[in-house]
Amino acid sequence: MKERLTDISLLKEQVIDEFCELVQIDSQPGDEAALADVVAEKLREIGMNVYRDRAGEAFGGNAGNVIGKPTGVMKSEPILLCAHLDRVAPGNGISPQLKDNRITSGGDTILAADDVAGITAILAGLRLARSLGSFVPAVEVLFTVSEEDQLKGAKFLDCSLLESKMGCVFDASGPVGRVIIQAPSQVKFDATVIGRSAHAALNPQDGINAIQVASKAMSDLPFGWVDNVTTANIGIIRGGESTNVVCDRVTLSGEVRSQCDKNAEKVASEFLTAFKKAANEAGAIAETNQRVMYRGYKIGEESQLMHLVKNAIGKTGRTMIPETSMGATDANILNSYGIQCVALGVGYEQVHSTCESIAVEELLASAELAYHLITGNQGFA
Ligand SMILES: [Zn+2]
Repeated sequence: MKERLTDISLLKEQVIDEFCELVQIDSQPGDEAALADVVAEKLREIGMNVYRDRAGEAFGGNAGNVIGKPTGVMKSEPILLCAHLDRVAPGNGISPQLKDNRITSGGDTILAADDVAGITAILAGLRLARSLGSFVPAVEVLFTVSEEDQLKGAKFLDCSLLESKMGCVFDASGPVGRVIIQAPSQVKFDATVIGRSAHAALNPQDGINAIQVASKAMSDLPFGWVDNVTTANIGIIRGGESTNVVCDRVTLSGEVRSQCDKNAEKVASEFLTAFKKAANEAGAIAETNQRVMYRGYKIGEESQLMHLVKNAIGKTGRTMIPETSMGATDANILNSYGIQCVALGVGYEQVHSTCESIAVEELLASAELAYHLITGNQGFA
């Protein structure tokens, strides 16, 4: 084990350089082609066959998901290692700064450690595994597009390109060792209240104000924590054009998340029922819809995946921290395809802000973890 730790530290310069190289390639959701080409070439250099699916075409993006598989026959079931290629705005023109063993952006953009840290870790782990010699690592790699845009890349993934039944998504905050073993379902909903317009001063008695109807419905709804595993929120409200018009139309959009699949749908329905009831009482109409955006997952402690993850984390000298999250990752979608997945902490901090940063130590620990996941999956020490 000590030898391998030394190997990781020898890779320090290379890992930092590769991280900085990749964050400088612009890669907004739907515009990942340049970064996809670069990581595809890197996978080939490592000795993988590279496949691209057509996910981007489904939603107007310029690239599909990138999939890497080892050349040669895998002798055991592969483990899937996943990270995403896109990043949130402002994420173009990033100039990474290394200071005191921590990497930050130049201050005017995000850093994109979310999720270049995941990509870098997987590439470095693969190189190390390859350096062991002639064996064919039992691993598949998935770099998704448009994760930040409602997990679209994963949603349109061509699963026929993958054989893995389990995997790890390198895309969670917190230190290396943190493992998201449970994540929620999300249901989104919209309600449009249609009242009747009239002049607000000349004949207001002829109007039905949709804003007032909507606010009556909302006044009794539970916002925030609905129960200890469920949250609800209305985050968008649009309506009205002039102060002298009784507003006849207002649209509200919201979401419910829950660790319990059924609860998410039930609470969303209750929200929509409230709008219908208030509309009905006021002589207005409420048009509603709700849709499941992703399903939750929960991975059991005794699963083969969790044994592998726990051992691999142990080999990095850290302790596994299993946690439940209220956020979603590609792991939500992959689980719904029957690929049992957890999300792993990769050490990035303050993501989706210009203060985003990552400690070099975490970048190296992630790479080491990727290496131990690959080798541990086929019984290498
Ligand atoms: Zn991410």
